[in-house]
Amino acid sequence: MISIDVRASRSYQVQIGQGLLPGLGQSAKALCPKAERFVLVTDDAVAPLWGGRALESLRAAGLAGEAYILPHGEASKTAENLITLLDSMTGQRLTRSDCIVALGGGMTGDLTGLAAAVYMRGIDYIQVPTTLLAAVDSSVGGKTAVDLPAGKNLMGAFWQPAYVLCDTDTLATLPGDIFTDGCAEVIKYAVLFDDGLFSLLEREGKDFPREEVIAQCVRFKRDVVGEDERDAGGRRGLLNLGHTLAHAIEACSDFSVSHGKAVAIGTAVVCRAAGKNNLCAPEVPERVCALLQKFGLPTETDIPLDRLMEPMLSDKKHAGSHINLVVPEKIGLCSMRSMDDTALYHFMEAGM
Ligand code: MG
Repeated sequence: MISIDVRASRSYQVQIGQGLLPGLGQSAKALCPKAERFVLVTDDAVAPLWGGRALESLRAAGLAGEAYILPHGEASKTAENLITLLDSMTGQRLTRSDCIVALGGGMTGDLTGLAAAVYMRGIDYIQVPTTLLAAVDSSVGGKTAVDLPAGKNLMGAFWQPAYVLCDTDTLATLPGDIFTDGCAEVIKYAVLFDDGLFSLLEREGKDFPREEVIAQCVRFKRDVVGEDERDAGGRRGLLNLGHTLAHAIEACSDFSVSHGKAVAIGTAVVCRAAGKNNLCAPEVPERVCALLQKFGLPTETDIPLDRLMEPMLSDKKHAGSHINLVVPEKIGLCSMRSMDDTALYHFMEAGM
């Protein structure tokens, strides 16, 4: 088991390892000592696999509560489901000293975190990520949100969890495609911060050591969150590598292209564009695209750039007339470049 301390407006531990789920209840009781009740938020794909064990562990620790089960998938990350969850929390008479637990992927974690942030002006929540993407990214750092009809994550709050428990056994039950999605974010961390991790992924492919690689990604995330918790123009923005184009691809495809696959395409395009503009070491585009392909991830889209521009420019990271784009210099080192609309168009065009 690997423990990582996150220091933000609230400090907490991320624990990663095999067979940790049975310890969930005891950790919840230790971290939220006044808690008597809980709601376990999960989805209909995860509940039959891991819901029973999580409930059992929480109840064995002396906590009373029920599961709240959402249909799986991004389409559930709505304000309507947030209200229904809050109603269920009032229905179960949760108080400010009780806690809620998110067992699942990014949708479950984001929605649960937002419910925790607003319920009675804020209660504790615990993240139990069961997808690779949630383990390396969304469960750590305190960004919580639901989607609005106008776009993803438009209603949200910064609210750090009390604890993150990642039982790597849960990843073994992931559908292959969902695991592949998470690999796109792992590759993103390697391009951003760590040429050693990049080489390891080139060597091992999808058989990379789970615990160590997830922990390494969480450490990188921990470091940028510690420096720029509220994503206020500092280092946290680096995590958007590939994401400006990714969000546009997701929107233009009506979310039929998953987040991970869109991030893979976005990363590949930015690397090719950086190569063509002589902004990065010449090996970068080739190695990044080869690694994405080795993991079964796409590196191209047939959506025309003209259609992608509008959602790219309305992306919430667009500050004034310029957009901050994360561009690689070499494997393990990226920087932010400010571009106006025209520069962005020509840059992306070079990478498509
Ligand atoms: Mg992402």
